[in-house]
Amino acid sequence: MNDFLERSETLFKRGQAVIPGGVNSPVRAAKAVGTHPLFIRRAEGSRIFDADGNTYLDYVGSWGPLILGHAHPRVVKAVQEAAARGTSYGAPTESEIELAERIISCVPSIEKVRLVTSGTEATMSAVRLARAFTGRPLILKFDGCYHGHGDSFLIKAGSGIATLGIPGSPGVPQEIASLTLSLPYNDLEKVRETFKTVGHRVAAVIVEPVAGNMGVVLPVPGFLEGLRDITIQYQTLLIFDEVITGFRVALGGAQERFQIRPDLTCLGKIIGGGLPVGAYGGSKKIMSLIAPEGPVYQAGTLSGNPLATAAGLAVLEILSQKGIYEQLEAKAGFFFGRLNELARSREIPFTTTRIGSMGSLFFSREDIRDYETVQKASIEIYAQFYREMRSRGVYLAPSAFEALFISLAHSQEDLEKTLAVADEVFGRLRE
Ligand SMILES: *Cc1c(COP(=O)(O)O)cnc(C)c1O
Repeated sequence: MNDFLERSETLFKRGQAVIPGGVNSPVRAAKAVGTHPLFIRRAEGSRIFDADGNTYLDYVGSWGPLILGHAHPRVVKAVQEAAARGTSYGAPTESEIELAERIISCVPSIEKVRLVTSGTEATMSAVRLARAFTGRPLILKFDGCYHGHGDSFLIKAGSGIATLGIPGSPGVPQEIASLTLSLPYNDLEKVRETFKTVGHRVAAVIVEPVAGNMGVVLPVPGFLEGLRDITIQYQTLLIFDEVITGFRVALGGAQERFQIRPDLTCLGKIIGGGLPVGAYGGSKKIMSLIAPEGPVYQAGTLSGNPLATAAGLAVLEILSQKGIYEQLEAKAGFFFGRLNELARSREIPFTTTRIGSMGSLFFSREDIRDYETVQKASIEIYAQFYREMRSRGVYLAPSAFEALFISLAHSQEDLEKTLAVADEVFGRLRE
């Protein structure tokens, strides 16, 4: 049992004195699961190691980027070699073009792509572009979908905010919030109704084609198709925020898997291999509005950073090999299937959602289809589950409303070990 967390506790106290809440991103603080964060010293493959010398099987994967596992030798080598050539030039490089070409060859709707430094930057820029292209002010999003922390998106915005119970955020002016409409995920009828009154003023519908930030919620059949039809009818742009799903649920993301062509796509996470990257792309016609080709301003000192592009390219090259997504599917299918069986045999209210190698656990008997049904799952039981799993060497997301990720580095043995621990913890939950 990993109960010895003295060093993490000390670091957390020290951090809280100089960093708000002791963390640089809120959910990390593990408040929502009633404990303190682990401070990580290093990671390798499927494992992370904390400051007290404990080892954990990691199912967070840095919140999505690490589809190959931690410190993959080819990624490490690519970054080391790039670093030796200089960490940043603020001038164009061939490796940016290679990454752009690779993204375009994989993601069906992207003809041109701009690299930025985070998913947040990608969505903010995509919305600016959509407003410029259409000349319209409004955007429509869905409850529980997270699109980064831009002012326009902090409205019913998933995990971090759901976890902390903040409706929106202080600091976002009402005038800005009023330009964002938020509707229930998977509710096409509400979208139709809304468009009848304000459709001609909506610049873009932005959606996570598979929601990943209120826990994983799959689109019901017809939802994404319906959004595509309605947005075409009203000449509104459809933005797929594939920051989580891009290169995760298929090489070409959710748009390949569900065969829908959005107008703009936002990427991040996996395409940076664990270094800070984001991207947004779409048709040549729309993307040509971006400066310096067009008038829509968007820039970045470290955009297209050579370390990040080197890491991203190494990851995408491996993911482009045959059979990778089949392997991930097999691992995750086995893992989630067994987890459900174990919970069922102990009569625990439990359900899972999954697509490819991302999924979520809900202590609930509800059919999970939107933010409302997600919220009926027990936060208290998840918190206990999280703590018990962690003390036995399994590291899950410190919030009931997050995804769990399986990487190529997770071996059959790792998964079986995790299932044995889960079985033991399921047994304790009933006590
Ligand atoms: C993670 C995420 C973002 C934000 O990306 P950051 O790099 O954290 O700014 C945006 N959209 C989705 C769907 C995400 O999962």
